Amino acid sequence: MFPKLTVLTHPLIQHKVSILRTKGTSARDFKALVSEISTLMAYEATKDLPLEEVEIDTPLERTRGRQLAGKKLALVPILRAGLGMVDGIAQLIPNARVGHIGLYRNHETLEPVDYYFKIPGNEADRLFLLLDPMLATGGSAVQAVSALKRAGARHIRFLCVVAAPEGVRKMLDAHPDVAVYASALDRGLDDKGYIVPGLGDAGDRLFGTP
Ligand code: URA
Repeated sequence: MFPKLTVLTHPLIQHKVSILRTKGTSARDFKALVSEISTLMAYEATKDLPLEEVEIDTPLERTRGRQLAGKKLALVPILRAGLGMVDGIAQLIPNARVGHIGLYRNHETLEPVDYYFKIPGNEADRLFLLLDPMLATGGSAVQAVSALKRAGARHIRFLCVVAAPEGVRKMLDAHPDVAVYASALDRGLDDKGYIVPGLGDAGDRLFGTP
């Protein structure tokens, strides 16, 4: 349906997303699940990273192995819900640097308001994984990608747990070079800008705020 959108259909991801959606799931379980789903998503979203051959010495003999080549990775959560995705991905990619983009959604205008931007250097030579569990209207995600590009980023992938078609469309219209990875593509948005069926406010559910 959308070029550059990959919906991750792995059974473990789908199972965990169903528990995440369930309204009775505790903040503690919600946090653990977002982290686990993020680990599985990162596994998929990095499956085409280039490799190079290296010589290695096992305890028995010299052999050839392969290691990641090319760009260093940076994880950039969009505050605050994106924070919930960092640790799960860092378990797989412990050397990744972590930046932060502070955006919040004005609940009346639904427009993103930015208040913080800090990312690692060597922007042009990094692969940025931009993280936000929810791609709803797409306003925050589009603004975050624009901010990364203004800072010099050239290679950006966007990872979200649940996406709405409206957000995917907005992202791909504004930034057709950005690949989007989602664990679910939902029906749409309600009149308050929530994804339906969705999972509610990811930030509130992660951090146990009302
Ligand atoms: N942000 C959320 O946390 N949930 C939504 O449904 C939409 C935006």
